[in-house]
Amino acid sequence: MSLDDHAEELASDLGVDKTEVKRDLENLVEYSVPVEEAKDSLRRKYGDGSDDGGDPTTKSIAEITTGDSNLTVTGTVLTVGKRSIRYQGSDHVIFEGEIADETGKISYTAWDDFGLQAGQTITAGNAGIREWEGEPELNLGESTTIQLADEDLDVAFPVGGDSTLAELEPGDRGRNVEVRALEVETKTIDGRDGETEILSGIFADETTRLPFTDWDPHDAITEGASVRLEDVFVREFRGAPSVNVSEFTEVEALDRPVEATEDAPRLAVRDAIESGGLFDVELVGNVIAVRDGSGLIERCPECGRVVQNGQCRSHGAVDGVDDLRIKAILDDGTGTVTAILDDELTEEVYGGDVADAKEHARDEMDQEAVADAIRETLVGREFVVRGSLSVDEYGANLNARSFDETDDDPASRAADLLTEVRP
Ligand SMILES: [Zn+2]
Repeated sequence: MSLDDHAEELASDLGVDKTEVKRDLENLVEYSVPVEEAKDSLRRKYGDGSDDGGDPTTKSIAEITTGDSNLTVTGTVLTVGKRSIRYQGSDHVIFEGEIADETGKISYTAWDDFGLQAGQTITAGNAGIREWEGEPELNLGESTTIQLADEDLDVAFPVGGDSTLAELEPGDRGRNVEVRALEVETKTIDGRDGETEILSGIFADETTRLPFTDWDPHDAITEGASVRLEDVFVREFRGAPSVNVSEFTEVEALDRPVEATEDAPRLAVRDAIESGGLFDVELVGNVIAVRDGSGLIERCPECGRVVQNGQCRSHGAVDGVDDLRIKAILDDGTGTVTAILDDELTEEVYGGDVADAKEHARDEMDQEAVADAIRETLVGREFVVRGSLSVDEYGANLNARSFDETDDDPASRAADLLTEVRP
């Protein structure tokens, strides 16, 4: 919109002479007043005193609430992620990311291609506000105007989206990462356009490991390859962040290897739970109980769910398949999680396989004999458990990849834990 158009609009809104309005507008803009602010000020001058006549209000980002409807917002674009979504039956390309000013940052979704670029300082006129997971979000659509602002803002947030894997959180858009692909697997899924191939596996950098999905398989993503990925988005998968690579992601093979960490961060149980979920974490605690449903169990041959009294929740009466599992409650003084051990880890703890366990149960004439033996082995002892933590309506569950008795001095680690826990 040119200044002339703005003057025209304003003059007709206010019912005053356009030449006069235009002269005033030019004056204000010359003094670096953003045009929307200048218009607001002229509305006040020419007596349309009501700021609430449907005209957008100017707000700083920290002031925006979910109760706002239309606003004028000036900020620096931090990230721009491009994504294809299906909306009301057809595909749309949308742009998402974050924008910041001196007071804070906010997520946005742009339904049109405004050519946004990270680092630009823009004024969004008539930006809608919608609520997303309890937070306000800018909605930039047809009726929104985007203008480049004259001056850069001094924002306290990194511009451009470069991140380490440990920094990624579900909901992030337009992020760039440099990673090594540790595991890559091709899968066929039932997509929205029928059967389609995707890649899934594990990425690592020097900070952590995360699962990934590549919805538009890229040749450069192979096992062991180090790649730079520009414009990935992050979703939650089983309570932990997962990296999503799309048709819009730029994938570049790196000629130097990306350092891939071998270690998982060791956290206090409470901190791990507060994080909401972690793909790879190490927890240390005492096993205070072994829960029901441990030891010799039966699974549904169809879906793998645990069968109780010969009944699967989904498939009714089935011939259960014998399996071994442990659900151990781990307590480190800050909180508790349920460590879930698969058949292999359970065999190690129990010292026998499914056949041994069945014989054991038969000898004792008690299906619970195996769980009781495991209880006796574990309860009261301290273990270091590494795995994926999910936190949801089923509680805090750590799917163990390794489970080992601690061998370091408990007193010194108790001291470490206390320093970690105390602010
Ligand atoms: Zn089933």
